[in-house]
Amino acid sequence: MSLVLIDGAKGEGGGQVLRSSLALSLITGRPVRIDNIRAKRAKSGLMRQHLTAVQAAAEIGAAQLNGASLGSSRLTFTPTQLKAGEYHFAIGTAGSTMLVLQTILLPLLLADGPSRVILEGGTHNPMAPPYDFIERVYLPLLNRMGGQVTASLVRAGFYPAGGGRCVIDITPTQQLGRLDLLERGPLLKRSVRAVVAQLPRHIAERELHQVLSALDWPEECGCIEALSGTASPGNVLMAELTFEGITEVFTAFGERGKPAEQVADDLLSQVQTYLTTDAPIGEHLADQLLLPLGLATHQGATPSTFLTSPLSDHVTTHIDVLHQFLDLKISTKRTTDGTILLHLSSP
Ligand code: ATP
Repeated sequence: MSLVLIDGAKGEGGGQVLRSSLALSLITGRPVRIDNIRAKRAKSGLMRQHLTAVQAAAEIGAAQLNGASLGSSRLTFTPTQLKAGEYHFAIGTAGSTMLVLQTILLPLLLADGPSRVILEGGTHNPMAPPYDFIERVYLPLLNRMGGQVTASLVRAGFYPAGGGRCVIDITPTQQLGRLDLLERGPLLKRSVRAVVAQLPRHIAERELHQVLSALDWPEECGCIEALSGTASPGNVLMAELTFEGITEVFTAFGERGKPAEQVADDLLSQVQTYLTTDAPIGEHLADQLLLPLGLATHQGATPSTFLTSPLSDHVTTHIDVLHQFLDLKISTKRTTDGTILLHLSSP
């Protein structure tokens, strides 16, 4: 099979190019070489989380590796056989377990038997999908496409110690189905959850007060979760909007020196941006949906379309990576109200 050459400096130039390339290499069986890994990040090359993703991908695909070391900016990955099974991947830092999962989930979904994956590290990290987003938003959509994946959170893990743990059970399917996501439908439920781990409860109270009053949502929409037993303290604020056609989760993180009110404002701006349009698919979900939908289309499913806003660099870069591995056409069209219609079809 011909080697796929990926330039990690193109477009968004971050870790997603690496992760999707590994996933697509495992799925298609095509070897890949990735140059300039994460070239547009301040600390370029393979960080701990990316290296764990590479090692996890190599383990499930019995792959030969060249360049798999911390800081490496070039990797050659040659998979030989995709193997379902029981896996345990520990990042060793607070690096995102959800991003490691992003690398191996779809390949394992197409493998020859059921898999169980135990992941250890960070479960709620800035700039990555938090566990709740995967459980509440991403997996239900994947399962609507014919997947059978369940997740459970054993322990949350925050920066800097990590120590989180989750378990993912995957029943394989040979063919993923199409999905159209054009409308939200009526709003069924709205909630805001403030999580504090080994931090004072008033942080969560202030965050909830600020968000609920700005959105004019009743107090019953808010809840506080106080966690003990985590390896590091942590604070995460999440809003969940459940419509008939889609659930979206938005997240903001507390950090040392950042007032609770500012965390609340971060969350508010994401929720308000989402609510200014009618597009069902938010910014982060859009780039993550491309992989399963692209794969379904490549496997012969009839076209899929979704409406999103705004169109991030992650999306456009991801489209380029998909085109390098899969036989499919992805087009984007701006609607009159500024949202983006994304259409995936056979070439
Ligand atoms: P780097 O770019 O430093 O390598 P990275 O490995 O974290 O960092 P990115 O390429 O930036 O990788 O990809 C981050 C992924 O996390 C994207 O798929 C993005 O949509 C997703 N993501 C980021 N923030 C959120 C969020 N709040 N909710 C859901 N998904 C998120």
